[in-house]
Amino acid sequence: REFYMRISNTANAVEPSLTRKLFNMAKEYNDVIDLTLGDPDIPPSQKIRSAACEAIMQGKTRYSANAGLPQLREAIANNFKNEYGIKIEPLNNVIVTVGGMEALFLSLACLIDNDDEVIIIAPYYVNYKQMVSMCSGVPVVVNTREENEFAVSTEMLEKVITDRTKAIIINTPCNPTGALLGKESLEAIASLAKKYDFAVISDEVYRCLIYDDAKHQSIVNLPDMLERTVVVDSFSKRFAMTGYRVGYAIAPADFTAAMIKLQENVAACAALPSQYAGIEAFESCVNDTFIKDEFQNRRDYLYNAINNIKGLSCIKPAATFYLFVNIKETGLDALTFAYKLLEQQHVAVVPGVAYGEEYKDYVRIAYTMKIDVLREAINKIEQFVSNLDK
Ligand code: PLP
Repeated sequence: REFYMRISNTANAVEPSLTRKLFNMAKEYNDVIDLTLGDPDIPPSQKIRSAACEAIMQGKTRYSANAGLPQLREAIANNFKNEYGIKIEPLNNVIVTVGGMEALFLSLACLIDNDDEVIIIAPYYVNYKQMVSMCSGVPVVVNTREENEFAVSTEMLEKVITDRTKAIIINTPCNPTGALLGKESLEAIASLAKKYDFAVISDEVYRCLIYDDAKHQSIVNLPDMLERTVVVDSFSKRFAMTGYRVGYAIAPADFTAAMIKLQENVAACAALPSQYAGIEAFESCVNDTFIKDEFQNRRDYLYNAINNIKGLSCIKPAATFYLFVNIKETGLDALTFAYKLLEQQHVAVVPGVAYGEEYKDYVRIAYTMKIDVLREAINKIEQFVSNLDK
């Protein structure tokens, strides 16, 4: 017998992500400029860091309740009241999770049985599709287009709804496009969710990285949507706390209870020092603007710089720290573009096909690097593109 451990079909069905692949390839070069990962280079506020250290020094390092510290759940509920205008019960409607990712995973695990379908709007955050497969569900992808500002419509969604549709995952602001789902898209989704009785998982982890006068709108603020929506949020992007691994979900009471039950069997709880850091973040950092200001500067620089390179273009992202760059005019497909750019100029970007098969004319740039480094990257990208003509 050659194999003692047979890998499950479920695990085999999960494809390694192209984002990680490019990230790993980038590590082969010691002078690479890596624009692949959505991990801010900015450290969190000193207060947050101190709160985590103090928790460790004071021995606050044991397990918490599966649902998270009551004080943190209360802070989350207060924040939700202040920023969404909706009153919820901290102990009934809030679960603290290991990043937004675990909130997504627990939501899906509580919604899907074998072969149930989950609608995912493309271009999508890679992990949605994989997580649906990991829960033995079937991801059903709906493609949106740049020329329509990545909006969705009733017609697009109605084409894919079946009696196995259990949920839709929406992501506003969106990774990788930086676009917001407008009122019309949200209303279309809400009315279909009610008509066909499916749930909405609303991933809003970038809601505080919105620039200019654009405003975040959440589907939970539409009539009768609170009872059929799981809001997924995180400390990762807003407070630059990616490695702390703390996020949360807000959901109806019975659904939250189911997630808490699963949490006991998955992670037990989010790391306790990180939960204390989360309390501090909500207590003293909600009005900080240094993270957002820095990303906005970088976005403004990159948006102009990319559009000044002949052959490249992008729409101005309203939010996040990503640019979804249209490379169609270069004549290269996304994979070739990304591999050649890495090989020739040592700049790593993610091919658009990582976010849906249709997006072979795009690459994603994460501007989680200082502006000087971004300038250097732009020079190299410009050089690369201009060499293509020769
Ligand atoms: N959702 C989206 C759209 C993301 O881009 C990410 C991280 O990149 C997450 C969720 C998960 O973040 P975390 O688990 O760090 O909260």
